[in-house]
Amino acid sequence: MITVSDDPADVEIALRGGGVSRPGCAGRLRPWGSARPRPIRHGVGAARVSRWHRPRRARCSGCRVTHVLLNVLLAARRADAAEVIAGIERKVVEGWGHRQIAAWLDRPATRVRGWLRSFADSASRIAEWFTALALRDAPDAVVLWPAPAPGAPSAALSALLAYAAGLGRRFGGVGTVAWVRAGIAASDGRLFRGSFWAAAVQHDCALPAVTSRR
Ligand SMILES: [Zn+2]
Repeated sequence: MITVSDDPADVEIALRGGGVSRPGCAGRLRPWGSARPRPIRHGVGAARVSRWHRPRRARCSGCRVTHVLLNVLLAARRADAAEVIAGIERKVVEGWGHRQIAAWLDRPATRVRGWLRSFADSASRIAEWFTALALRDAPDAVVLWPAPAPGAPSAALSALLAYAAGLGRRFGGVGTVAWVRAGIAASDGRLFRGSFWAAAVQHDCALPAVTSRR
């Protein structure tokens, strides 16, 4: 799974021009059909809408591994768009409970509770990983960012905000980068996938491989 621009035309042009590669491989990604379409729920309240997404597939010209190119708006294995799931920040920032967030997002309370639990379970790993990324890519932002409130979820959100702020500053003029987009792009869509972070702990990796995305 690779996270790409939310504009399919950009993706297509980059793929056909051979402009997409993976860290650690000299090969270039080429178009390789499409993955199965799936409906994704976007938006909140009255703006809520279900849209079908059919991710492109690409194959590496070097190692011949195929990859699904996941739009940066989508979270791996979640039926709600990443920006909807990002509503869980209300718990950390405002202290909202899962029912309050669910009512605001217009999503079932059980689903929101699942997102919150998953984020809380992964939080210390997320904090560690994005702090490392922010230190690597935007050390100024880490220094300037205020210390998080106590608790792993606060530390995780703070690290994501620092990383996103650093990206915004580094690519000055682009404007602010939403933490959820920065997080989704940097984790190849797996930001809200508890099993990804759990596996990192289980296998006792120091950190998932942090490689240059240039
Ligand atoms: Zn390759």
